[in-house]
Amino acid sequence: CGIVGYVGGQSALDVVIAGLRRLEYRGYDSAGVAVLADGGLAAAKKAGKLVNLTKVLDERPLPDGNTGIGHTRWATHGGPTDANAHPHLDNAGRVSVVHNGIIENFAALRDELAERGHALHSETDTEVVSHLLAENFSSCGDLGEAMRQVCRRLEGAFTLVAVHADQPDTVVGARRNSPLVVGVGDGETFLASDVAAFIEHTRDAIELGQDQVVELSRDGVQVTDFHGAAAEVREYHVDWDA
Ligand code: GLU
Repeated sequence: CGIVGYVGGQSALDVVIAGLRRLEYRGYDSAGVAVLADGGLAAAKKAGKLVNLTKVLDERPLPDGNTGIGHTRWATHGGPTDANAHPHLDNAGRVSVVHNGIIENFAALRDELAERGHALHSETDTEVVSHLLAENFSSCGDLGEAMRQVCRRLEGAFTLVAVHADQPDTVVGARRNSPLVVGVGDGETFLASDVAAFIEHTRDAIELGQDQVVELSRDGVQVTDFHGAAAEVREYHVDWDA
């Protein structure tokens, strides 16, 4: 129900957890994070309140990295368990995805992935996306392009945010229906379902439109439609107090 992504010079984990706290008002039943660090990807997730997740992180700290994503879940497919909490990874543990919304054709995609030898570990509609992204990334070598290819296959309403260990300093997001907002800072960029998640860092925001994919790096953002054409976005300054 809440999404946060970060690329920059700060500890991604600190920024993401603080952002998720600012989104707690939206309600959720589980939470999770993933960071890119030391050439790999590390993730933690837990059913219940954010404090359950931060306890796990205290006991088993993640390596420190500058790129990360986080999620608070409101379960629609699969109960509120640790395994169903986001992020969801591919079988190699190189790609990590968080999702708000519903992927209506997930059952057909899941069967197709199973036939190609993928092992799925949750009951969510979301997990198909991490496996599809991993496949598409291995053929095109770019997470933004992989996301566009996957989005063209999805039905339903979704906000997706993903990272890939083979493409550091990058967070990719996609939006169909559910809101997604970018925050542009100095040498850092943010992505969230609500500006409240990053307003303490920057007030320069970009609202994504329908059916758009955004690629975040430290120095800025690139927005396209699901077919790769440059897209129109609305840039604005947040001048209210969160
Ligand atoms: N449909 C997904 C799930 O049940 C995402 C739910 C959400 O929006 O938090 O895991």
